[in-house]
Amino acid sequence: MKEQTLVLIKPDGVQRGLIGELTTRFEKAGLTIIGMKMVWIDKAFAKKHYSAHVKKAFYPTLEAMITEGPVVAMILEGVHAVEQVRKMVGPTEPRKAPPGTIRGDYAHVSYEYADKKGVAVKNLIHASGNKAEAKDEIKLWFKKQELHSYQTAHQKHTM
Ligand code: AMP
Repeated sequence: MKEQTLVLIKPDGVQRGLIGELTTRFEKAGLTIIGMKMVWIDKAFAKKHYSAHVKKAFYPTLEAMITEGPVVAMILEGVHAVEQVRKMVGPTEPRKAPPGTIRGDYAHVSYEYADKKGVAVKNLIHASGNKAEAKDEIKLWFKKQELHSYQTAHQKHTM
């Protein structure tokens, strides 16, 4: 049941100074950060990460957004971590994301607004969509030796 998942704090989250606040949410839920780094990806890497979206009409805006500044990449580990992290992040469109979720608490824009402006929807976080995606994304972003196994207080009290 213990899983690992990839989380990116995207350039909008980094530039808004939210690295600490967003990371704290995951730590408070008891998820263990087993790998973490700041990376400024290029267009070739963006195409690998967003391979599912490359052919979509909004892809050029997505590529511009994800390469406009550094992201903070982390691997979180916990029970049903893939599903838990997606729940905490909320739906892709901030307009639909309920209060209490990261996108609902820190953003509010819609697809309609982003499309009209010709920009990607800024929604702060990327989180792996399912277990297979998590496996592929962890391999793409992190080397084995960048991931660490250690004990946290949460492992005693929340797991
Ligand atoms: P996802 O892999 O679901 O996170 O989608 C990739 C990212 O593309 C989202 O997090 C949004 O930032 C952006 N995005 C998705 N759909 C649209 C859209 N219709 N218009 C603009 N940006 C979008």
